[in-house]
Amino acid sequence: MGIIRESDINEIRERNDLVEVVSDYVKLKKAGRSFRGLCPFHKEKTPSFFVDPLKQLYHCFGCGEGGNVFTFVMKMERVEFPEAVKLLAERVGYEIKYEKGESRDKSFRERLFSACEEAAKFYENYLWGSEGEKAREYLERRGFSKEILKEFRLGFSPSQWSTITNYLYKKGFTSEELASAGISIQGEKGFYDRFRGRIIFPIFDLKGRVVAFGGRILEGEDKDEPKYLNSSETPIFKKGSLLYGLYQAKREIVSEDEVIVVEGYTDVLALHQGGIKNSVATLGTAFTIEHFHALSRISSKVLLAFDADTAGKTAAQRGIELLSEGRSEIYVIRLPSGKDPADLAREKEELLKVFSQPEPLAQFCIEEKIKGYSLENRVERVKALQEALSVVRSLPSYLAQEEYIRLLSERFNFSEEALRLELKRGKRYNKQKLEERVEELEPQIAAEYKREEELLKIFLKEADLAKKFVKDVQDEYFQSLAVREIFSCLSPYFESGKEPNLAEEMDKLSEESKSLLSRLMLEEVNADNKKVYLNEILVKIKEYFLKEEITKLKKKLSENSSTVNDEIFEEIYRLEVLRRSLMQEV
Ligand SMILES: [Zn+2]
Repeated sequence: MGIIRESDINEIRERNDLVEVVSDYVKLKKAGRSFRGLCPFHKEKTPSFFVDPLKQLYHCFGCGEGGNVFTFVMKMERVEFPEAVKLLAERVGYEIKYEKGESRDKSFRERLFSACEEAAKFYENYLWGSEGEKAREYLERRGFSKEILKEFRLGFSPSQWSTITNYLYKKGFTSEELASAGISIQGEKGFYDRFRGRIIFPIFDLKGRVVAFGGRILEGEDKDEPKYLNSSETPIFKKGSLLYGLYQAKREIVSEDEVIVVEGYTDVLALHQGGIKNSVATLGTAFTIEHFHALSRISSKVLLAFDADTAGKTAAQRGIELLSEGRSEIYVIRLPSGKDPADLAREKEELLKVFSQPEPLAQFCIEEKIKGYSLENRVERVKALQEALSVVRSLPSYLAQEEYIRLLSERFNFSEEALRLELKRGKRYNKQKLEERVEELEPQIAAEYKREEELLKIFLKEADLAKKFVKDVQDEYFQSLAVREIFSCLSPYFESGKEPNLAEEMDKLSEESKSLLSRLMLEEVNADNKKVYLNEILVKIKEYFLKEEITKLKKKLSENSSTVNDEIFEEIYRLEVLRRSLMQEV
């Protein structure tokens, strides 16, 4: 599935009325401005789930779930974002794409296994026969030994159009079977060979049966063709969880209790030849959670050895999912640029050095998540910290979380206590009642969070007041990272006095911010004079902020004995004066 265009996403969001979509799952009743029903995300007897038809947002006051039409479908159907978009597109008849699926009976599958085995034998013989000389020379040049090529049963395919197809016809296979096994392709003039003039890498399942093939073009051959070609998915070949070399590496992985995942088939060959036999490769796809499940069953340590670019993408897409599994330790190895393991295997010393310095996946994910942010910029720094915390939150071990809290506290200059609260808050946010959540926080900071949320709520509901007061508010005033994130995201709206397009902005926010925002939208502001109320809150927030700053500086003062003391003193004095003048204002 490719990337969905933003205009399509917007179109699909607009065409799917949230009230209608929710009504497919939940019986809703009109209640004032909103609709109300029993929450589908937690068990309850009295309805606390609200849908706002104007804002196109929902929120549950019982469990804290909230969001827009996409998050609703994601959670109800347990799907990822693109899949939710697709479902909603189908719902309104907008650009539907169906994927073809096949289900076949057992004997048909058996026929496909034997077709693949026959094809593998044919390709092998072809490589070692007179026609395979060019291919053998090429493999020899790349440094592969005869033993390794035999072990992995490499082959070579004829460059004519239908040699293997005709050969397998004679063996009694039908064109339907050959096409289903991924060996032949239906063309205008009949069936022809999928792999022509390629070095063939048979792909084995865990039982050692050939289920598919990868084909690499010979150097200098037809430039229009892709360098690598894989069988398409077939009834016996699902790319998701299968890994190249797993059958050959299985034993070594179990005895070493460690597996190395690389990118290319030739990398696997090179490593095995170099004596590193616990290595496998993905089948030209990204590393998935299914791969991880397959490997964590047999090994407690998984090393992902990708080039920096691929490793980054994998961490971004799957990192958190992988971390939260917690079944095996996952490490990342950044390979030196411009070198693949096949190059490195020839310099075994260097390779062993690289492999001996793996980086824990959590650390790697944090770096990947924050690398796009400028930490000098205050708004971006908070966002970066939110991102980093989302990684820490996914760690299943309390001890590991603590370790990263210490590191992040130093790096971002936030107290460990605040980070711990933030972590706890985010984790339970969706699962716990608001009152319990607040009780768990320390009373002082809980009151502070409440005030910050009140301020944000007024800003959301009263565009005039927001416009007037926004210049007095700095996002660093907010102790609650969720409030801070929402505020910095929406402040352009507040400044211009325009109504924010919340359903759209939602998609940019973290889970906990989504939940908070949808809740605030549905709550009322309980104050006779909103301007006075806002002013009161703002003063208290500023005061809290100044007090915190002063505490931080004093702590710094006690740690630092030398030169910078004067500056710190001056700063404390300045903040103290500000705070006092603030108190007089009230
Ligand atoms: Zn609920």
